[in-house]
Amino acid sequence: MPHLDTHELKLFLEPMIIDRALWGGKPYHPISLDYKSRFGAKVVKVPVSIAESCPNRDGFKGMKTCIFCDEHGSFAYADSQGDELKSQIELHRSKVTERFNAAKFLIYFQAYTTTFTALTKLKNGFDLALSYPDTVGVIVGTRPDCLSEAVLRTWKEYSEKTFVGVEIGVQSFDDDQLTWMRRGHTGSQAIRGIERIAKEAGPKVDVGIHLMFGWPTENDKQIIETAKLCNSLPITNVKLHNLHVLAKTPLADLYHAGEFEPIDLDTYAHRVALFLDHLDPRIAIHRLAALSNRWDELIAPEWVRHKMRSFQGMIDRIESEGSFQGRLL
Ligand code: SF4
Repeated sequence: MPHLDTHELKLFLEPMIIDRALWGGKPYHPISLDYKSRFGAKVVKVPVSIAESCPNRDGFKGMKTCIFCDEHGSFAYADSQGDELKSQIELHRSKVTERFNAAKFLIYFQAYTTTFTALTKLKNGFDLALSYPDTVGVIVGTRPDCLSEAVLRTWKEYSEKTFVGVEIGVQSFDDDQLTWMRRGHTGSQAIRGIERIAKEAGPKVDVGIHLMFGWPTENDKQIIETAKLCNSLPITNVKLHNLHVLAKTPLADLYHAGEFEPIDLDTYAHRVALFLDHLDPRIAIHRLAALSNRWDELIAPEWVRHKMRSFQGMIDRIESEGSFQGRLL
């Protein structure tokens, strides 16, 4: 079955906007619904790593490692990072198959900044990933300021024959917060990057963004504005993270010095509820929070360690506020 492109997917989703039954009873539109609609089967992502660094870690233009980032560049499977791509695909595919019982896969080039590596390496990675008959496409994780014309051309070319998704680490559109976290790009650069992908790589390239909540200066008004901004951008999905403290990060130093206090579960859930209330229900959600990612490296807050309990706590809080995605549009 040919996959739906972004425009076709939006048309498909239009008649079922805010359908809690279709959302599996959840107060938000889960990405699994999009995958099922696009590919006609349950599809899960298989994280792999081919990049070895990013502009921040390399000190490009005086940049520094993002304040929250651990040494593995946000990679899910640190133990096999650096292994041959083929063995990563096969090992991680067997892990997600066991966990999620899926038979179709999207290979997700996750760690560091995937487009901060040689283009030939990226293309070879795509070709290898797509050589597996149960792979239905590829997804690339990157930053909004690492989008060369050659990269955009490559995505366009591959999107003619398979699904190509891009996940942009935006984190925040607020310049003060971006400076505090040492991202090395501004909110306007993030917007421009997203718009460039839509224009230059074309509508068949699916674009999602990562956002983080829990910044020291964050407030409800900002969360609402962020949701409204998302609605105006050419994106189809959002992944939410809660800012938490991992070992050996600059944020850990601030935390130990008493200069940073992580957001509590209740406040975080309230912010997520507000965000959902104002978010276009056609935009899919990958997840509401990053929970229990790295048990051994987690310093704070403790609620991140308790995946099921904290997820349920968030859902209860969202429900108690009467919130659901698109409610206040
Ligand atoms: S979050 Fe991404 S850009 Fe920032 S230091 Fe980590 S890998 Fe580099």
